[in-house]
Amino acid sequence: MIRFSDVSVRYPTGTLGLDSIDLEIPDGQFVVVVGLSGAGKSTLVRTINGLVPVTSGTLEVGDRTVSGASKRALRKLRAEVGMIFQSFNLVTRTSVMNNVLLGRLHATSTLRSLVGAWKASDTELAFEALERVGIVDKAYVRASQLSGGQQQRVAIARVLAQQPQVILADEPVASLDPPTANQVMRDLQRINRELGITTVVNLHFLDLARTYGQRIIGMRAGKVVFDGTADQADDAV
Ligand code: ADP
Ligand code: ADP
Repeated sequence: MIRFSDVSVRYPTGTLGLDSIDLEIPDGQFVVVVGLSGAGKSTLVRTINGLVPVTSGTLEVGDRTVSGASKRALRKLRAEVGMIFQSFNLVTRTSVMNNVLLGRLHATSTLRSLVGAWKASDTELAFEALERVGIVDKAYVRASQLSGGQQQRVAIARVLAQQPQVILADEPVASLDPPTANQVMRDLQRINRELGITTVVNLHFLDLARTYGQRIIGMRAGKVVFDGTADQADDAV
């Protein structure tokens, strides 16, 4: 369970990123967050992995209290919460396999893994993750040679290799063409069903949100202004 209790975020600039959010996301749910640019979607997901600190209120992720957590606790949290970005954030000059193994680096920071001396079990997890997104045949191709959709699938595999409790995706399809965007959304939805990993996806297209969101959260000016099913979302956001 992810639980926001009266959570606000105020940036050092004075901007209110989140304004008194109360929200519960049960384990295994697939949630889509929609809203215009500046609504607070990124801030919301970045509080869940501790990238943006909570100014007031209480935020719990599983059995961790994120608000007010120590640096050490936040590092552990980030090992359990995987993140996918609009810009894929791959190391494009190296192989797909090396990129996916970076997900293991988030999960285990042993000295061996820091110098790339991976255990067989790490490589196995990486292959499994690549299989799950259907690009295992690209394992030894340079990431720069893949299309945008393939690169985003590598990013999903990297997160899966981390074996997270939660996957956060911040506008993961914003730089993809519509068919590829649909494919990536289908992948995320299928992975959620197969593995039961709680998934929170930020989108700024309501049609994609309606198609894929079991639950849609609408944001405006740092507040939740809609929380319901796709059917209810018609003219709410
Ligand atoms: P998005 O709409 O996809 O969140 P933005 O262009 O708003 O992208 O933000 C890009 C980056 O700039 C993010 O890291 C965000 O946290 C940061 N950012 C956004 N607005 C501000 C601001 N007013 N002051 C400082 N940094 C900002
Ligand atoms: P969205 O993801 O919906 O585009 P954001 O969460 O990025 O919205 O932004 C919410 C508000 O917080 C906006 O007013 C934005 O300018 C501001 N903001 C985001 N990141 C920063 C930052 N690092 N510093 C200052 N203000 C920020």
